[in-house]
Amino acid sequence: MNFVSEALNLSRFSTERLEERGILKRAFVKHPFFGDIIEAFRIDKKFGIYEEGTVVVKSSNGLKVFRGFPKIKRILYLESGLKKHFGMKKIALEEKMNGYNVRIVKIGERIYAITRRGLICPYTTEKAREKIPADFFDEFPDYMLCCEAIGNASPYVPDYYGIDGLEFFLFDIREGKTNRPMSVSERKEIAERYGIKMVEILLETSPENINDIKKVVEDLNKREREGIVFKELEMLLPPLKYTTSFSNCSDLSYAFKNFEEYGRDFLLARIVREAFQAFEFQDSINIEERYYRLGRAILSSTIESIKKVWEGKEVTEEIRLKFSDEDVLELFKMHLKLVGVNLKELERKRKGEKIEVKFERTMRATTDKIRSLLEGNPW
Ligand code: ATP
Ligand code: MG
Repeated sequence: MNFVSEALNLSRFSTERLEERGILKRAFVKHPFFGDIIEAFRIDKKFGIYEEGTVVVKSSNGLKVFRGFPKIKRILYLESGLKKHFGMKKIALEEKMNGYNVRIVKIGERIYAITRRGLICPYTTEKAREKIPADFFDEFPDYMLCCEAIGNASPYVPDYYGIDGLEFFLFDIREGKTNRPMSVSERKEIAERYGIKMVEILLETSPENINDIKKVVEDLNKREREGIVFKELEMLLPPLKYTTSFSNCSDLSYAFKNFEEYGRDFLLARIVREAFQAFEFQDSINIEERYYRLGRAILSSTIESIKKVWEGKEVTEEIRLKFSDEDVLELFKMHLKLVGVNLKELERKRKGEKIEVKFERTMRATTDKIRSLLEGNPW
């Protein structure tokens, strides 16, 4: 554990506090697939300057720190929100894609993929080794490629894009130890040069051009996309995020389907977002249509779950993953235990070089609650 205080520049007192408070946790399952790593810990709650998800690694070639990906603040009212935060500065409107956050890094001789809370995920690592050009790290050995992982073979988020397998879309390049981001233009140049897929930049403008910005939101909504991350071009200010009505409603629909698994705050926040958008965009989207869409998102998925339990089934979710290596599959199952995600393997098939595995996740709390209510018990 001594290497943690050395790597993070913490006093012995601070490191003891970290341990006492249970904030320092194991970041991986030991396995030859992770052979470059001797030991790795993650910080599970912001501590001093260190973000949640910060990882400290002792590797075959020294200590490494990978800072957690910073939280992005959300605005609900675009016109004043953008001006207040960015002033007259030039900003990029980047597509906000809905997958899971991955930091791709190099440790020792190989590439590793770290998920948001600081776990080194074997499944994502296998895909990153197949998809990310390793020569980027010859030029930038201590940097992190911050990507959104997306596709129908995602263990953590459903696919909204019709992407087969799992793809990585770059949205930030940051220095591991300091978390300093590259500017938007530097990142664009590097992504092109190394052939790394990048999230789309939809517009470069400044906050006073609110009508152009609103048009981008409307267009994204029509195309059923999640939203926008606003970034000052030099990346000297923190970014801001904003989501479409489509995304607010599809979040609500998913959360209500599994209503006991989701907190009340999650649900309330999305309804309030939708109200602010309805107010700001009142001229452009038919309000009756909004009422209908939101009501439908909430009710239809909840009713669907009730119906399933009524028929004697459970509220579940099916996930199909594709592995290249059987060892990684076994390692991934151990990893899920470490994360505390409960996936049951239902079926395993060989498909050419790949192994396709069907997993099922049961929404225990929601299933039990519905069953109890259907039996006539009070809420
Ligand atoms: P956060 O704490 O960062 O707000 P969250 O879990 O609440 O995270 P989201 O509401 O999905 O997440 O918004 C932030 C996330 O959006 C980022 O962590 C990143 O994974 C994802 N993302 C997708 N596209 C982009 C992009 N173009 N720029 C930055 N982040 C993006
Ligand atoms: Mg997200």
